[in-house]
Amino acid sequence: MTIGVAVFGATGSIGKSTLSVIKTHPDRFHLEVVSAHSSIDKLIRIIECFEPAHVILTDPLQESALMERLPRKFKGSLAFGESSLVEAANATEVDVVMAAIVGGAGLRSTYAAVSAGKRVCLANKEALVMAGELIIAEAKKSGAVLLPIDSEHNAMFQCLPESYLVGEHIEGLQQLILTCSGGPFLDWSIDDLARITPKQAVAHPNWSMGRKISVDSATLMNKGLELIEATHLFGVNESIIDVVIHPESIIHSFVEFIDGSILAQLASPDMRIPIAHALGFPERLRVDVKRLALTELSGLHFEAVRHDVFPALELARKACAEGDDRPIILNAANEVAVAAFLNDQISFTEVTEITADCLNQIAKQSVYSINDVLSLDKMCRKIVNGLIMERK
Ligand code: NAD
Ligand code: MG
Repeated sequence: MTIGVAVFGATGSIGKSTLSVIKTHPDRFHLEVVSAHSSIDKLIRIIECFEPAHVILTDPLQESALMERLPRKFKGSLAFGESSLVEAANATEVDVVMAAIVGGAGLRSTYAAVSAGKRVCLANKEALVMAGELIIAEAKKSGAVLLPIDSEHNAMFQCLPESYLVGEHIEGLQQLILTCSGGPFLDWSIDDLARITPKQAVAHPNWSMGRKISVDSATLMNKGLELIEATHLFGVNESIIDVVIHPESIIHSFVEFIDGSILAQLASPDMRIPIAHALGFPERLRVDVKRLALTELSGLHFEAVRHDVFPALELARKACAEGDDRPIILNAANEVAVAAFLNDQISFTEVTEITADCLNQIAKQSVYSINDVLSLDKMCRKIVNGLIMERK
């Protein structure tokens, strides 16, 4: 019997790397479910190559386009809409869910997989940012195991005692240190940042990723979201999480213990490594990646973050420390602002400015359920769109 994997967001960058790992290990995994939003070409290729048992399309505008082009040999079932993701997360044939939808759009399906008690490989960091407490509490109830896919958190996971996975306090922990490549504009001045184009912003020096996370990496909001993600995954306060710039992206994070020892995980920047680690855990799976040749590394560098030039990280840290609704607003505002930047509606530096404005505009409130989170998220998106219009 092979393990049934559902890949939510199969047409994205993480989806593609996940399918590659699954393809290398047919004796171990089969693709039970794939989902795509609107990339019909990519979805058709996945259906032809992998013959998944179940295909979900979430963008209603693309339904007829998919029906017209569905390969004749496809014998699986087809479903539409977000509710189909929730059903698939509960299917008995699904053992593992790869949560790889980008943004708040992944929250419901990620939460459903956690509620169903599945092994959840978590790439969709925005879900944890928006609803970390609710997701972790639900995992404790259902027995779901949350395995980090984000390379930094996966690196920390590899350096920590496994008992943290079942909610145990991490004994002897001094500090978690997230490494950060610094993105494509690491040494740029504030003045130059204002003129950056979307094309420049999505060209990350070390990683090939989706457009939204590429912009987040360039503003350093990605590191802010990762800081919040780490507090939930490892059950720690933000005050013991530090960030260090490491432009080579070879060390994927550090864990420091109270005796002064620091552990790190090193690897080529290739997402198939953390994906294979989580899919195979506790076993190691062979991955056909570029091996690190230690003697050929020309040097590993570390420097402090320039918070005056990249204010997004401190904005996220503050939202994390204040808690409640703040991370939800931070995430929603950032998502809308990034989309507006990619659409040439606002400048690069306005992405973080607008996110800060939105946090200032909304009075603090408590959230108690996923529905509360989603209604606040919806309200924020409206407010941010208004703020964007005002700047035009
Ligand atoms: P991507 O843009 O390449 O792919 C996104 C996927 O989500 C696609 O399959 C798309 O069809 C689907 N999607 C988009 N909008 C949707 C909607 N409204 N409803 C349902 N599905 C929708 O993104 P990515 O780079 O693969 O990132 C996916 C997630 O993984 C993000 O949360 C990102 O932060 C995280 N992540 C990515 C990387 C990376 O290297 N790409 C690394 C760490 C974490
Ligand atoms: Mg990361």
